[in-house]
Amino acid sequence: MNTHKAQKKWGQNFLKDTTIIDKIMASVPRSKHAVYIEIGPGKGALTEGLLALNRPVIAYEIDRNLEPTLNARFNKIEDFHLIMDDFLNRDISNDIHNHQFSEFDVHVVANLPYYITTPIIRKCLDLANLKSITIMVQDEVAKRLSAQPSTKDYGALTVLSQYYNNIDYLFQVPPHVFHPAPKVHSAVIQLTIKPERILPVDQEKSFETFIHQCFKQKRKTLINNLSSEYTNAKDVLTNYFEAEGLNPQTRAEALNLNHLVHLFQKISVQTQAKN
Ligand code: SAM
Repeated sequence: MNTHKAQKKWGQNFLKDTTIIDKIMASVPRSKHAVYIEIGPGKGALTEGLLALNRPVIAYEIDRNLEPTLNARFNKIEDFHLIMDDFLNRDISNDIHNHQFSEFDVHVVANLPYYITTPIIRKCLDLANLKSITIMVQDEVAKRLSAQPSTKDYGALTVLSQYYNNIDYLFQVPPHVFHPAPKVHSAVIQLTIKPERILPVDQEKSFETFIHQCFKQKRKTLINNLSSEYTNAKDVLTNYFEAEGLNPQTRAEALNLNHLVHLFQKISVQTQAKN
């Protein structure tokens, strides 16, 4: 176990502080119907706590050198299913199906390299029966995902994440609880999937495009950003701002999710895309 050298290329910063490990475990949702998906178990810091919940755990680890450590610790436990592979290259639904866990509620738990946070979250969001994601991310990203309107961290990523999930910033994690210590602060966040979406599914792709357009140039007003994309955006926006008692110079960052959804509905019906 001690002979394994931390691999920078796989973002290996192992949790060594039991207080933090316990705190993460306390925030993982419990359910009689859960299957836990752990991404990057490393040496098993979180795996042990997950297995203590007496529900199946499918763990994906990319570093083959960690296989003996993980097996030595857990392979006698029936609930432990280790897949030595890159999570991003796997067909996860197929893995869940092959283990006959298709009917279970999926809860993802991960302490991962920060550079793959976004693709990992995106991939998880596509899973059927996904209920929650409890994940350690760079503190800066955690703040962006859970930001409120009119703060510096609020942007397209915030709005789109909050459209699909309720996002809770749980707690900050200092560098010294890891070995080796990373350069930046981390934080644990929890995404809980909203059971019902505001828009019909077939409009969601257009909504995503619209949100990116709204925040295209953060310092520009919404009228400026959207006028280059839609035919009579200026009139639609002016009417909307007036009806809502908002300043015509409003920027996207001042609007909450509900405002942006309403605006999207008006823009979709009353304007034409220029390209
Ligand atoms: N969960 C352990 C802990 O808290 O101590 C390890 C955390 S370490 C930050 C990230 C782990 O993710 C490493 O074990 C690394 O090898 C693994 N990893 C990195 N990229 C991965 C990928 N694409 N698929 C699966 N595991 C990955």
